[in-house]
Amino acid sequence: MAARVLDGTAVALEIRAELKPRVEAFTSRAGRPPGLGIVLVGDDAASDVYVRSKLKSAAETGLRADLERMPATTSLAQLLEAVDRLNRSDVHDAILVQSPLPAAMGPDAERRVFDAVDPAKDVDGFHPLNVGRLVQNRDALVACTPSGIIELLERSKVAIAGAHAVVIGRSDIVGKPMALLLLHRNATVTICHSRTVDLPRIAAQADILVAAIGRAAFVTRDFVKPGAAVVDVGMNRLGDRAAVERIFPPGSKGRDTFERRGSVLLGDVHPEVAEVAGALSPVPGGVGPLTIALLLKNTLAAAFKRARWAG
Ligand code: NAP
Repeated sequence: MAARVLDGTAVALEIRAELKPRVEAFTSRAGRPPGLGIVLVGDDAASDVYVRSKLKSAAETGLRADLERMPATTSLAQLLEAVDRLNRSDVHDAILVQSPLPAAMGPDAERRVFDAVDPAKDVDGFHPLNVGRLVQNRDALVACTPSGIIELLERSKVAIAGAHAVVIGRSDIVGKPMALLLLHRNATVTICHSRTVDLPRIAAQADILVAAIGRAAFVTRDFVKPGAAVVDVGMNRLGDRAAVERIFPPGSKGRDTFERRGSVLLGDVHPEVAEVAGALSPVPGGVGPLTIALLLKNTLAAAFKRARWAG
C-alpha cells in the first residue's frame, strides 16, 4: 500500500493562515509590520529562487521583507558591515544571510557571519547562543527546517514521544537541531552520518526516519521499516538521464518532468520507499514550503520578543 503523504504544502498554508492575524495585531500595535532583512551575496541560481520565494511569502503574510543583494566580489568585512546595519535597524526584527556564501570569502566566512547576527534577530537559529539554548531546551530561535519538520509530524499526528527516530545527517543547519527537537519531544534518537557502519540496518529500526544527506535517492527500501514515517529533507537536482532512468520507472512523473525540463528535483529518499513507508513527505511539496513558513513564524516571534509583548 502506498504511504500516506505528509503534505508540507498544506501544513505550511495552515501555519501561514494562523500567522496572518497575529502579524496584523503586531502591525497595528507597533505602527509597522514585523521586518525581515535578507542578505544575498553572489549569484547562486538556487539561492536566488529560494530568496524570491521567501520575499513573496513574507509579503503575502503581511511582513516587511527587504533584500540586500551584494556582488560575488563582496569582502567578508563588507558583509559583516551589512549585518551590523541590520543589527542596528529599528524596522528589522529578523536577519537572514542566505547560504552558501561565495567560496572566495573563505572557509570560516559562514560561521563568522552567523556569529555576527544579533541573537535576538537570528531567525535561522544559527548563532551559538540560540544553539546552546536549544540544547538546554530553553526558549530560542530554532533553525527553520527542523522546526518545520516537527510541525509537519505533529500536525500530521505522527507520534514522536517514545518513538525511535533516526536522523541521517549531522549538519548544524538540519541534522543536529532536528535530533535535539525530537529528543526534547521524548523520542529516542539516533544520529547517523557518513562514517556510520551498517547504516541501512540502523535506519530500518526507525519509527521516524529523517533523511538530510544531499544525495539523490540514497535511502532505498532496505533502509525503511514497514510503516515508518519518513521525512525527506534532501533537495537534489538530477540532470543525468541514466540516473533518472535508474530511479524513476517508465511513465512516472519523475521521468515526465525530466523529459520536459531536462532535469528533475528529487530528495534523498528513493521513490520506491513509498511502497514500504507508512507516511512519507514528498519532494517537492514536503519540507521546502515548511522551511519558509517557519521563517515567517520565527520573524514574528522575534518581533514580539523584541517589543517585549506577549504574542
Ligand atoms: P550537509 O551540511 O552537506 O550535511 C550532509 C550530512 O549528510 C552530513 O552530516 C554527512 O555526514 C551526511 N552524509 C553525507 N553522505 C552520507 C552517506 N553516504 N551516508 C551517511 N551520511 C552521509 O547538508 P545539509 O545542509 O544538512 O542538507 C542536507 C540536504 O537537505 C541537502 O540536499 C539540502 O539541499 C537539503 N536541505 C533542504 C532544505 C529545505 O528547506 N527543503 C533545507 C536545508 C537543507 P558527515 O557529517 O559525516 O559528512
